[in-house]
Amino acid sequence: MTTWETVIGLEVHAQLATRTKLFCGCETTYGAAPNTQVCPVCLGYPGALPVPNARAIELAVRAGFALGSTVSRASRFARKSYFYPDLPKGYQISQMELPINEGGAVTFEGRTVALERAHLEEDAAKSTHVGSQTRVDFNRGGVPLLEIVSRPDLRSPAEAEAYLRALRSLLMTAGVNDGNLEEGSFRCDANISLRPLGSDVFGERVEIKNVNSFRFVRLALESEIARQRAVLQSGGRVERETRSWDEAAGVTRSMRGKEEAADYRYFPDPDLPALVLDEATLERWRAEVPELPAAREARWVEAGLTEYDAGVLGQHPAVARYFDAVCAATAMEPKKVANFVQGEVLGRIGTQGLEADVPVAPAALAGLLDLLAGDTIHGQAAKKVLGLMIDEGLDAATLVKREGLAQENDAEALEAQVRAVLDANPAQVTQFREGKTAVIGYFVGQVMKASRGKANPKTVKETLERLLAGE
Ligand SMILES: [Zn+2]
Repeated sequence: MTTWETVIGLEVHAQLATRTKLFCGCETTYGAAPNTQVCPVCLGYPGALPVPNARAIELAVRAGFALGSTVSRASRFARKSYFYPDLPKGYQISQMELPINEGGAVTFEGRTVALERAHLEEDAAKSTHVGSQTRVDFNRGGVPLLEIVSRPDLRSPAEAEAYLRALRSLLMTAGVNDGNLEEGSFRCDANISLRPLGSDVFGERVEIKNVNSFRFVRLALESEIARQRAVLQSGGRVERETRSWDEAAGVTRSMRGKEEAADYRYFPDPDLPALVLDEATLERWRAEVPELPAAREARWVEAGLTEYDAGVLGQHPAVARYFDAVCAATAMEPKKVANFVQGEVLGRIGTQGLEADVPVAPAALAGLLDLLAGDTIHGQAAKKVLGLMIDEGLDAATLVKREGLAQENDAEALEAQVRAVLDANPAQVTQFREGKTAVIGYFVGQVMKASRGKANPKTVKETLERLLAGE
């Protein structure tokens, strides 16, 4: 039996995080009432002229630098002609021979996947099929996209999923895409073929269109591998076609035979001159590329975080920046900061697009963590103080003082309290000496109660163990 190798290449359409469309001033707000963000340009009226959005071009270039692409000093917009109800002009403005970014790579989990290109194009409108009707919402028509095309370097569905997660994280960190899959701002088409292991000739490929979750990409590819393998094993031929993912049935379904690229009759758009960028601007944008996820993760792991911590805190760039800002402001070691942020703060951070709504400013949280690291308060008290900080907006030191939560670190006073508790509970002391060591938890609770929560639980336990062992 032949062993088959899977060959996967991905095309991602990432919406550039601009306020307005690629060639007109219409807003790109998601969820607006249908056909309220339109004008003669994005509706394709004859004679309406496109004007490139400078911000979209800047974001495309920033993405190019973050991806390690060669950014073209001169690129060109081209018309990709086809007929569809959601494309009133009869063509989509894209880039063909001279894309804004060529080459580049995405690195993840020790793998590097090369890119063909990352070019600018406008989105088509959105058709919704309701019974026998088709409704078209032109709000999305003309929204700026960066199409990032990988080489066919991926070898498994799991690898494809990991690539997509890494690419999304990178684009979000570079501030060019909000990573919102539900709203369609990060969409993926997957090309997949099989070939006998060891062959260097590609098999006929199938394109799976617009899968809108990482998990579905993996499932769609797994299902497509099984389908193609069955076709090939039985001596059949895989047809070149476009398929869609049927989520309910868990299979891909044929949509249409694949048009050849030549059918689109690409040609330079006569309404748009060559896009020429000056060297100084390019250099400035290159210099402004922030630290990227892979480098950030390596730095965090070096500082003592686990890879799991780094994954959780790096999920959203604003959360990552928040964590870094807290670490920079506190004397607490990064691993402990990571634990506290994950346990107590992360659940209270709301994210919207590329922004995060944090419950306490980094400096304020650092103030609390310093009290914790310096043993002024213990963990339980820190949680309580954090809640008060969020509710009242006061700083940690003020609240610790007001609530009388400063720890009792006087060893003699503590020992006296421990002795008092032991004296008051002779039955439990006997139990402990008979081997029921779990009873120590009861003693700790009693001492904590007597100290009204001010004693350091760790010191209490140590003192208890010492006194119980010694008497
Ligand atoms: Zn418009």
